[in-house]
Amino acid sequence: MIKKLLIANRGEIALRIVRACNELGIKTLAVYSEADEQSLHVQLADEAICIGPAASQFSYLKADRIIAAAEIADVDAIHPGYGFLAENADFAEQCETCNIKFVGPSSDAILNFGDKSRAREMAVKAKVPVIPGSEGTVDNEKDALTVAKKIGFPVIVKAVAGGGGKGMRTAHNAVAFKKEYNSARSEAEKAFGNGSVYIEKFLEGPRHIEIQVLGDSKGNVIHLGERDCSVQRRHQKLIEEAPSPFITDETRKKMGRDAVKLAKSVKYEGAGTVEFLTDSDGNYYFIEMNTRIQVEHGVTEEVTGIDLVKEQLLIASGRKLSYEQKDVKILRHAIECRVNAEDPGRNFAPCPGGIDLYYSPGGHGVRIDSHVYSGYSIPPHYDSMIAKVITFGRTRELALDRMDRALGEYLIRGIKTNIPFSRAIIRDPIFRDGKATTKFVEEFVKRVPKDLYT
Ligand code: ADP
Repeated sequence: MIKKLLIANRGEIALRIVRACNELGIKTLAVYSEADEQSLHVQLADEAICIGPAASQFSYLKADRIIAAAEIADVDAIHPGYGFLAENADFAEQCETCNIKFVGPSSDAILNFGDKSRAREMAVKAKVPVIPGSEGTVDNEKDALTVAKKIGFPVIVKAVAGGGGKGMRTAHNAVAFKKEYNSARSEAEKAFGNGSVYIEKFLEGPRHIEIQVLGDSKGNVIHLGERDCSVQRRHQKLIEEAPSPFITDETRKKMGRDAVKLAKSVKYEGAGTVEFLTDSDGNYYFIEMNTRIQVEHGVTEEVTGIDLVKEQLLIASGRKLSYEQKDVKILRHAIECRVNAEDPGRNFAPCPGGIDLYYSPGGHGVRIDSHVYSGYSIPPHYDSMIAKVITFGRTRELALDRMDRALGEYLIRGIKTNIPFSRAIIRDPIFRDGKATTKFVEEFVKRVPKDLYT
């Protein structure tokens, strides 16, 4: 069993990992930037080491400093959380070389799935359906246009190294294509240092449905059902729920089987998410696999009663999965709203700063994952997500009513948040009806008066 773990992250996920370690009796080492000295995970970990200045390229992204901290503190494993180095194959390899267990899959799996075009090829090999698209990358404008015409407009140009909705552009015709192709490439080059792109058919108003998988070092793989993450703004998830109000039991089973098939085909170890888009006829297509814990993992935890972070730590310790497929039951409905420090009245501009007063909701069926508290100051250097509200109940309706109630209780003074926006969505009849596609938010802001959510 892992004895001491370095948490190579910050914010709510760092705290989430500290909590899992405390329950398993694993000692924790927090690493933090100068901006995060007051962060809750730093205060709650057994030990803490400052690894550099606020900017993440000098701290949370500095693999050598993190490895040095791991060696000084003599940890036997590193949990990367999500974001930062979580999908960095070089970092995972460095951990492997230093004999420090990286809590996640092998560096090879990270490398293969980290390239979204290669991931598509692996899905094809495993006989998992993919969206019609280019074979591999398309590296010049002329060839790209030929491929786009062959696929048929509209198409979407996607960065192979993409993530967080960056390096992705839609084109509805050949004229727009040239511009979109080049801006996807340059955005990808800037964001990921890799301008390679591939092309897919653009699906109109699909639903984003993903399957949570767990694999152990003995070759066992199970899935824990789906999460519906169709409510997105600029390709970034805002609200996630399980089970999906859209797919049938038959599709659910097929998607689960396909996700397991893909993970098994690469002997996947750890927690991972196989992402699909579904069309209005219920067909589904693989889009990518995330080789880490997801922000929205808590939804699956509340629906199945399985602690995913603990499972990650047990798998990394060489244990067999604690569950077989037949033990996984969907016990209830759960929904998550991400709370971001941003101002819906100013086009969702980030809103860092001091929190004068903080009171989070509670009561039956409510879970809050957050690292903030009264008097905490949100640094401007990182992602704007400051909390996740998860509510659950026997039915979707109960979970939604609870979410409405919980969001209404939330008190965060000093900064603006997107809470009113999420609450307006929770109350919206189209969302309530389970009809939201990935186009929902774009249409919602056009349809609904701004003062309803600012
Ligand atoms: P990222 O890795 O940046 O999150 P994904 O490939 O996971 O990118 O896609 C993010 C979102 O972009 C999807 O959930 C969906 O809303 C949209 N998207 C991606 N591919 C397509 C497509 N082929 N057609 C329509 N929408 C798409």
